[in-house]
Amino acid sequence: MSTIEAPIDRLLARLDAVRGRGEGRWIARCPAHHDHTPSLGIAEGADGVVLVRCHAGCPTPDVLAATGLDMADLFPRRLRRGGRGPRRADARRLPRPDAAAMLAAVGGEAMICALAASDLAAGRALGGDDYARVMAAAATLRRAADAAGRHQA
Ligand SMILES: [Zn+2]
Repeated sequence: MSTIEAPIDRLLARLDAVRGRGEGRWIARCPAHHDHTPSLGIAEGADGVVLVRCHAGCPTPDVLAATGLDMADLFPRRLRRGGRGPRRADARRLPRPDAAAMLAAVGGEAMICALAASDLAAGRALGGDDYARVMAAAATLRRAADAAGRHQA
């Protein structure tokens, strides 16, 4: 393949009834359950990481499996592989691949919080599962911040 397909393009091309919902946000029919009214929320972060959330509660890996993708497909290649083609002298300055993957995951958690905030701002209530997911995201971000703090000390 000569061009690198963005994660968002890869996903949207495999979904039905895709509609834009503003900057970097879409809604589509969830492929993992019988979805009459599109209930799959999709968002793209500034770093190209894609967040998927089925409002009916399908686990994201199931949604992706139904499209033939997996979780890694939500991340741009440069985040998955820790950067490509740096000059040797610069290589050690780049984050290690595991650090890059962690940053991508943190970005995904932040997107979950942002999506929830945007639902609330639009007057939509958060369901119990959504609330639990936001709390889990907040806990993950807290742990990541604590871990980063320990490395700096
Ligand atoms: Zn679903």
